Amino acid sequence: MEESEEELLPKITAASLRDPAQQCGRRLALELGNRKRATWGDNVRWRLSDRINADIRLAHTELRSADPTWFHPPTDLLPEQQMLYTVTTRAYCALFADRPAVARDPIEWSVDVPELGVRLVGPPPLILDDEHGALEVRLLRVHQRPLGPDLAETVEVRFLVARIRAALHEDRDGPEVRVCIADLVDATYDEITVDPYDSDVDAWLEAGVAAVKLAADETRVRQGHECARCAYVPGCKAHK
Ligand code: SF4
Repeated sequence: MEESEEELLPKITAASLRDPAQQCGRRLALELGNRKRATWGDNVRWRLSDRINADIRLAHTELRSADPTWFHPPTDLLPEQQMLYTVTTRAYCALFADRPAVARDPIEWSVDVPELGVRLVGPPPLILDDEHGALEVRLLRVHQRPLGPDLAETVEVRFLVARIRAALHEDRDGPEVRVCIADLVDATYDEITVDPYDSDVDAWLEAGVAAVKLAADETRVRQGHECARCAYVPGCKAHK
């Protein structure tokens, strides 16, 4: 049974943690309060990205590398999206051609952090075990802005670290997880090793959640470029 707004813990996303004081307070407040979103969730870019990630995950139901012949552009996508699907899945197969891996069950979209009284929400990352049993996370991107020079300290990677704990088995070897960050359109690739129980990430998350709560204010409306991707345009006084 679906939980109501009140039953859910306040919602934190990676986007909300990016300098919240500079974001629209209304948007943050409505998102934090789990308020029902408008239809923005059907955004085409995310639909495509979700499909690519889901199909790549499927290719790793067994320990193996993905093969381009397994991927067929979904017919419910637009022609341009189908082309992008082909480009990205081929790029993935080329990039990870000699790196067989088997996918773990995906973590939930929403991961509770009871000690902070929030839940972390975002697309489930691709978490795999390689042929040597080492844990690897493949963060696959589709023409997105670069993360920044110090990858381990970016919001994306820290948010990922805070979420993947839900997928770790107690019997895994070693404290480290390899994170591969690939943009399948821009042909960029980086790799870092992270400690999923890094206490710096806990401190960062605690401070970030406090900052989001402070900045979340339904009466503080800030019209700007955020509006183009806002799920709360209906009812917003900035657009009357
Ligand atoms: S539409 Fe713009 S001003 Fe209104 S809540 Fe969304 S981001 Fe804020």
